[in-house]
Amino acid sequence: MKFIQTRGVDSTKPETVTFSEAILSPIASFGGLYVPQKLPDLGEEFLQKHRDSSYKELAKDMLDAFAIDIDGDVIDEALSLYDKFDDAKNPVPVVKVKENLYVSELYHGPTRAFKDMALQPFGVVLSSIAQRLNENYLILAATSGDTGPAALETFKNRANVKVACLYPDGGTSDVQRLQMVTEDAANLKVIGIHGVFDDAQSALKRLLASENFKEALQEKETKLSAANSVNFGRIIFQIIYHIHSYLELVRQNAITMGEKVYLNVPSGNFGNALGGYYAWKMGLPVEKIIISSNENNVLTRLIRDGKYDLRECEVVSTTSPAMDILKSSNVERVLFDLLGEVRTKELMMDLEAKNFYELREDELAKLRECFDADWCSGDEGKKYIKETFEQYNYLMDPHTATCMKSYESVSKPEITSIIYSTAEWTKFSPVIANALTGEVDMKDIDALESISKVANLEIPAMIQELFTKEIAQKTVIEKEEIEAEILKFL
Ligand SMILES: *Cc1c(COP(=O)(O)O)cnc(C)c1O
Repeated sequence: MKFIQTRGVDSTKPETVTFSEAILSPIASFGGLYVPQKLPDLGEEFLQKHRDSSYKELAKDMLDAFAIDIDGDVIDEALSLYDKFDDAKNPVPVVKVKENLYVSELYHGPTRAFKDMALQPFGVVLSSIAQRLNENYLILAATSGDTGPAALETFKNRANVKVACLYPDGGTSDVQRLQMVTEDAANLKVIGIHGVFDDAQSALKRLLASENFKEALQEKETKLSAANSVNFGRIIFQIIYHIHSYLELVRQNAITMGEKVYLNVPSGNFGNALGGYYAWKMGLPVEKIIISSNENNVLTRLIRDGKYDLRECEVVSTTSPAMDILKSSNVERVLFDLLGEVRTKELMMDLEAKNFYELREDELAKLRECFDADWCSGDEGKKYIKETFEQYNYLMDPHTATCMKSYESVSKPEITSIIYSTAEWTKFSPVIANALTGEVDMKDIDALESISKVANLEIPAMIQELFTKEIAQKTVIEKEEIEAEILKFL
């Protein structure tokens, strides 16, 4: 399988690239992204064949259909990381909340958020490519909370890869910060910045553009790569769980094979939703994909009105911070699939130049055949957390809770919905404790204990341990000092 480019081809890139090439340098011509030349058509046969397969059997066969340039034993090793999830036999449990409403829990991995679903196997794949090429890579990451821990966890002690991870000191939850600063491995460097997430991210962008930094890396024979969610090496692992969740519903006799379902996805950078869209195009019976957002509701407006409008628009901080995103990168891949490269380039160039684009009526109709959307405020989200817990004894995190709003407002109740749960309650405990009991300004440790009592849930060992583990990463610096600090680490 070869990969092509969403904005057409300029003179700087070959017309097609392999999977490995798309992973190592994920940005294509004109700043576009790589997409599969042709998605495999799995059809109902594939679903029948895997009706009773394990997650890994299904994953292996789906990845085979993509015919990527990665050896079978590397794929096996990558998929074996799902064995470390809570239940090796079923890394993604699908749980019934009520009639026609199910939650697919994507957070049972080591860092308790759905980033593990893709980043765990991705770490093995990237490191194996680096070893095959005999090259060393530095992964730079700026995180507001979930990506950082998942990236550190997956690359820890992996050959030919180093990670430098920037986070805003004081800008993440205690659990998220502890997950990073207790990571102890020679190839990992965690750097706290005095500032907010935007400071960390713009520092990273400056670094990526710095000639001085590039030369210094060359001297150390190190290349730069990225593990962000536009990387197709992450997307490919996010198709699998949509198919798995559907088959789980068949196994639970919640639906019959072939019956259409809603996929309801709490969305930020649109990687999760894109995985569902690709699964659908490959043959999964889907009624529609519902995109759920928080107050940063640019995706809701796009899907309803056809306008991607960032004029006079600023990111606001919400109770679901992993979705506090305005430029949702993976939307571009859907535009490409629906409208082709010429139009996608035009729209994306408009967005860059004018902070705005508008779809034509026929284009919006195409988009709306596949997607619908709604957004949920923080207060509404807390109401849904409390209600869903009290009525159905099901506890959800603030990201997942945004789906309850769109479930009620846009989906037909007679069609079964799968809501994707992207984080465990332990990762956003102060908001959840506030929703359940009204307590305010709690520290994570107190909120965890409060929820644990109220909801009668055990705090998982890997979260409990964080509070007594030794702090291995103590660097907290001004943003001007980042470059020197990273070079010292290399
Ligand atoms: C990253 C993340 C999201 C958003 O997922 P996208 O694939 O970027 O749309 C939602 N919830 C949580 C908890 C996350 O960590």
